Amino acid sequence: AKGGHPSAEGATEFIASAYAERAVSPEPHAVEVAPGYTGYDTYKAKGGYALAAALSQGTQDAESVIKAMEDSGLRGLGGAGFPAGRKWRIVRDQPAPRLMAVNIDEGEPGTFKDRTYLERDPHRFLEGLLVAAQVVGTTACYIYLRDEYHGCRAILETEIAKLQANPPCPLPVIELRRGAGAYICGEESAMIESIEGKRGEPRMRPPYIAQVGLFGRPTLEHNFETLYWVRDIVEKGASWFSSFGRNGRKGLRSFSVSGRVKFPGVKLAPAGISVAELVDEYCGGMLDGHKLYAYLPGGASGGIFPASLSHVPLDFDTLQPHGGFIGSAAVIVLSQHDKARDAALNMMRFYAHESCGQCTPCRVGTAKAATLMESPVWDHTTLEDLNVVMTDASICGLGQAAPNPVRCVQKYFAHEVS
Ligand code: SF4
Repeated sequence: AKGGHPSAEGATEFIASAYAERAVSPEPHAVEVAPGYTGYDTYKAKGGYALAAALSQGTQDAESVIKAMEDSGLRGLGGAGFPAGRKWRIVRDQPAPRLMAVNIDEGEPGTFKDRTYLERDPHRFLEGLLVAAQVVGTTACYIYLRDEYHGCRAILETEIAKLQANPPCPLPVIELRRGAGAYICGEESAMIESIEGKRGEPRMRPPYIAQVGLFGRPTLEHNFETLYWVRDIVEKGASWFSSFGRNGRKGLRSFSVSGRVKFPGVKLAPAGISVAELVDEYCGGMLDGHKLYAYLPGGASGGIFPASLSHVPLDFDTLQPHGGFIGSAAVIVLSQHDKARDAALNMMRFYAHESCGQCTPCRVGTAKAATLMESPVWDHTTLEDLNVVMTDASICGLGQAAPNPVRCVQKYFAHEVS
């Protein structure tokens, strides 16, 4: 190798050996389960898969299932919030063959709800998948799992095998695909590229993946948790789900709460609960010696808000007027011992690292913004130029949402950066 660089031949050998190692050591992880874990037999003994079976036997009609999904108001819980029932109808009306892709990449910082549910009750999700497959008529389902979730992979491999050995209804092809640690592969079209074996880069839309998705076919794409609620909504009724809610909102939300609270974790709470209520009623309050100073309602992308906005209902659409959104409901709580500017800088570095690089405003803008944000006093004019270009000219949500934390700091925490 000249100049310290490996030769092309050496690099090829290295890559080949790395692949070989990965191929021969797919680490058969032992299935370690959480207390109260519900495996296949227990799930079935408690009435599980009755809905999936009823659909295949014709004793439950597909139209009534879609109607329940629509009436419940369930929206995509990966962050985008598209109404689930409407999505089912759109994809069902597309020409066959239709496919399904399930996103368990769970890469949004602070989000751990999918993992928590998957580690406890995997068949509630798998039944939702089978119901959706039958109602929408998808012939194959690709489950895209975050590769760091070794335990979840072991669980899914084991439980899917049990399901296939004793199917409650005709099964679609179910393929479990491993992600490779790229945040952008949580974006639906980048995930589809990745499943197809290509570089995980978001696609331009239209066409939408409901029309032209995986392998060029109409594709139903869902987050894990959206499918997790299907059985309960159909069996208990749409009004069961929509009867929850607070401050004028309807439904349930799984908040992944972390930060300066006494009891962090996944909190299943009414949609529309405020962060002040969430911390007091579900998290045992703030840690001793800490006062609420700021919070992030939706991981890295949803903005940073001050304690003076701790009464705002947390739900889809409620945070837009303040410059953010709930996304996957990852609530990160900061206290007087933290700085919003540090959190914003951390996020911008994260975006710069995770940008797929295919469009200039995001690739260059995030890196440039991170450098500017290191200064004790921010150059607001240049940062705002970058904000506008990233928001208006980026292909996907990563570049479009990257300015949110910057703008929030400028608006609510100006004293930290001037
Ligand atoms: Fe890639 Fe960023 Fe452009 Fe999205 S906005 S396509 S992550 S470069």
